[in-house]
Amino acid sequence: MVADDKRVIIRIKNVSKSYGEMQVLKNINLDITNGEVLVILGPSGSGKSTLLRTINGLEEIDGGEVFINDELYNSNKIAELSGKKRAEVGMVFQQFNLYPHLTVMENVTLALRKVKKKSKKDAVEIAAPILKKVGLESKVNSYPRELSGGEQQRVAIARSLAMQPKVMLFDEPTSSLDIELINEVLGTLIQLSKDGMTMIVVTHELSFARRVASRVAFLDKGELIEVGKPHDVIIHPQMERTKMFMNKIYNEKSSLHSIKKRGSINIGIGYYAPPMCYTENGEDIIGFDADLSRLIAERLDVSLNFVRLRNEDRINYLLTGRIDACISKLNHTKSRDHIIDYSVSYLKNCKKVLMYKDSICSLDELAAKKIAYVVGTSTAEEIETCLYNHGYNRPSFVAFEDNDKAYEAMISGAVAGYAGDEIIMNYYRNNHKTDAELMYHPDICCHSYFAVGVAENDSEWLNELNNILIDIYNSGDYEKLFRKWFSTKDKKFLVPLEKWFG
Ligand code: ADP
Ligand code: MG
Repeated sequence: MVADDKRVIIRIKNVSKSYGEMQVLKNINLDITNGEVLVILGPSGSGKSTLLRTINGLEEIDGGEVFINDELYNSNKIAELSGKKRAEVGMVFQQFNLYPHLTVMENVTLALRKVKKKSKKDAVEIAAPILKKVGLESKVNSYPRELSGGEQQRVAIARSLAMQPKVMLFDEPTSSLDIELINEVLGTLIQLSKDGMTMIVVTHELSFARRVASRVAFLDKGELIEVGKPHDVIIHPQMERTKMFMNKIYNEKSSLHSIKKRGSINIGIGYYAPPMCYTENGEDIIGFDADLSRLIAERLDVSLNFVRLRNEDRINYLLTGRIDACISKLNHTKSRDHIIDYSVSYLKNCKKVLMYKDSICSLDELAAKKIAYVVGTSTAEEIETCLYNHGYNRPSFVAFEDNDKAYEAMISGAVAGYAGDEIIMNYYRNNHKTDAELMYHPDICCHSYFAVGVAENDSEWLNELNNILIDIYNSGDYEKLFRKWFSTKDKKFLVPLEKWFG
């Protein structure tokens, strides 16, 4: 079987196609091997859909040949393919084209019965596991109108798969879906590729292309301009036309583009972590992060929507585009590095353990105690690493919903210490005084920085954001903000200017 691995499944040889005077495909040559996922990118009207239609024999061609599994599948001599043969190539379109009067199961089994002449029972036996695979086993008796766009598209994929095609073609399968439904359909495609299906996908989802494609092809005005590894074609294209296209689509995909189009910015901010962000008596959101957000929106000249987030939702909201930026005491940590990008840092931070004076002496003792931390933060992970580096075990961390509860637990003695951000814990020490004396454990200090989180690979937006932050610094607004929210004792948390330039 291994020898089969690099077998060419789709061979496109010198394919040309014109509509009247206009040549839409110009001498296309491309081989796709077993299990490959080829993503086709290209501007509207460049011939992507026409190419897919010539591959599955829906379109006559003027010159050249298409072979599937070494069998001639399309050429200028093949008048029409039988339905049975066409079934070897499955195709999924932007529009799902489901029959509205048929249930999910009926939609998926229709071609099996009409083209493959299966009995109803046999057809259902084939379709059921496929519907399960695309996550629709509970929807078999629903009608298309009762399904979301993402579910309808997965029915269309199941309908194609039921014909047991050798290759699958997808023509912008997520273009008509809302942003939150795109991922579920892309998830199905990722699963298919893991199962070894050979696929050609026309899509503008660059992150999908970068993650899943074996190769990316760029088509422009009917010409195949560049084919290669995703990273090479998308990030480091060789040809001028490819470079121009990638720049344009990155700009359009940029949050900066949508912020300006909307006239508003969506900023993810935490629930309760004074003095960074909090509310009092149901008033407006206040705090350093809230004011920084306001300064950024002002400089962008757009209105500001706060999206209140639990700590554990911050990254997810960025990844799914529900927020343009996360300004929520977000620590720059290694584990987050490869999924999001950060602005320049705006505050130094230090993770410490607050406790009653001299209550925990050695690190050994600390490792044996119950320590409070706030759920969804990187605190436990950072402190664990710090202890590990000194050769000690992880204490038993107890998660609390917010800083108030973690602080209270320490004061009441329910836990021996409260691990968190020093700049936030200082606020508690100043504002919630107790009779007893508190201190930070002298041997624990994990340095990190607070920065604005943005989605990965959006250099357009990240550059603009950094320019704005640097302007906020240079204009003196940063220092005003600092003095408003922190005491002079906290001066050490100011980030020096050189740090702002990365
Ligand atoms: P893409 O999918 O890249 O947007 P298409 O393959 O749909 O591009 O179209 C390529 C070119 O062929 C376009 O200029 C389009 O207007 C033209 N075209 C597509 N289908 C037809 C058709 N049936 N008759 C005439 N022109 C067509
Ligand atoms: Mg198209």
